[in-house]
Amino acid sequence: MKLALRAQGINPSPTLAIDAKAKQMIKDGLDIIGFGAGEPDFDTPEVIKDEAIAALKRGDTKYTPASGSVSLKEAVCFKMQRDHGLEYKPNQVVICCGAKHALYNLFQVICDPGDEVIIPAPYWVSYSEQVALAGAKPVFIPTHEAGCFKMTAEQLRSAITGKTVALILNSPSNPTGAVYSRQELEAIAAIAVEKNIIVVSDEIYEQLIYEGEHVSIATINPQIKDLTIIINGVSKTFAMTGWRIGYAVGDAKVIKAMGDLQSHSTSNPTTFCQAASVLALKNPPQEKITAMVSEFKRRREYMVDTVNKIPGLSCLKPAGAFYVFASIKGIIGKEYFGRKVSDADGFAELLLEHAKVAVVPGNGFGAPEYIRLSYATSFEKIEKGLSRIAEFVTEG
Ligand SMILES: *Cc1c(COP(=O)(O)O)cnc(C)c1O
Repeated sequence: MKLALRAQGINPSPTLAIDAKAKQMIKDGLDIIGFGAGEPDFDTPEVIKDEAIAALKRGDTKYTPASGSVSLKEAVCFKMQRDHGLEYKPNQVVICCGAKHALYNLFQVICDPGDEVIIPAPYWVSYSEQVALAGAKPVFIPTHEAGCFKMTAEQLRSAITGKTVALILNSPSNPTGAVYSRQELEAIAAIAVEKNIIVVSDEIYEQLIYEGEHVSIATINPQIKDLTIIINGVSKTFAMTGWRIGYAVGDAKVIKAMGDLQSHSTSNPTTFCQAASVLALKNPPQEKITAMVSEFKRRREYMVDTVNKIPGLSCLKPAGAFYVFASIKGIIGKEYFGRKVSDADGFAELLLEHAKVAVVPGNGFGAPEYIRLSYATSFEKIEKGLSRIAEFVTEG
C-alpha cells in the first residue's frame, strides 16, 4: 500500500526497539532490570482518582469544548498565577491530550515548510520528529557536560537565521536533568526578544527539582512572556501519565489556532480526566508530591555516586527530572563477548543480552556516547541493576 512521504520520513522511536526486546525477555521469564521508565513509578494520588470517579458519577461523560473545558482553562490560569505570578486569560489556554500532543499541535500551527526550529541537544526525541512533521527543519545546538548540558546565549545567537521561528527550551531537561537559572534565562530571553522568535518552554518537570529552583522564562519580562508558549501537563507532577492531559499557554491567536486544529482531530481530551485535573491544579496533594520528590532525590544521590564508581562510566548530578545521563566514553572502543562497543546503541544491546539490564541509548537524543538511566524505579532495583552493570564492565 502507498505510504505518504510524510510517513516515510518518521524515525520510529529508537528506544522502542530495545524496549520491545526487553519486554519480550521479561515475558519469556527472564529477570530483567529496566532503567527505561519515562514515568513516575508512583500511583496517581487517591484524591485525584476520587474526583475522576465523582465526575463520572455526576455525568461528566460528554464532549467539552474541543479546546478544553472552561473550568480546566481557569484552573490553569489559577496555577500560572499561584506558581509563577503570571497572568493569563482562559482564551490563552488550550487543553490537549498530554503535553506531547500540545507540542505537536503547536508546531503544526507555527511552522511553515523551510522554517527552522532551534533545539539544544541532547534533546527529547519527539521534538525533532514533531518539528519535521510540521515541515520545518530542526537545528541542533550541541551542549556538553562541561557546560552542564546548557546552551549559552552566544550559541543561541549564532544559530539564529532569517528562517528561525522558534527555540525549544526544556528545563528541567529530559534526558540531562539540566535546569536553567534565572540569569541564564535572562540572557536567552534578551536574544529571543531582539530576534523576535517564539520560545517553546516545556516545563513538564517543573516540580521534580532537587537543586536550585524552577524559573519559567515567561517570568523574565513582559516582552518575553508575549513570545513564550508554556507547555505543561499533569503527567509527571501528579503521576498521571495515562490520563493524557496537557496544556499550552500563551499568545491567544496561536492558542486559538491550536484549538481549531484540535477540533478536527482529537476534539476534547477525556472529559472526566479534565475534571480531575482541575482538582490536581487547584488543590494539589502537596504532601504526596513532596514525598515523591524526596524519594527521587534519595535515589538520585545513590545512583550518581554508584554510576561514578563504575569504571568507564561517569555522570553529572542532574538538578531535575528523574534521569541520570551517563557518559560511556570510557567504554567505547572496548570489546565484550567478541563485540566492540562503538556507541550507546551497541552498549545497550550488550547490557540487555549479557547483564540483563535495559538502559536507553543516547543515540535517539542526539548523544551516542551517553545512556539514560531512569530512577523512576525502586531503590532495590536500582541497586541490583547498577551492580549488574558494574559486574559486566569489569568482568565482561
Ligand atoms: C513526558 C514528557 C512530555 C509529555 O508528557 P505527556 O504525558 O504527553 O503530558 C513532554 N516533554 C518531555 C520532555 C517529557 O519527558
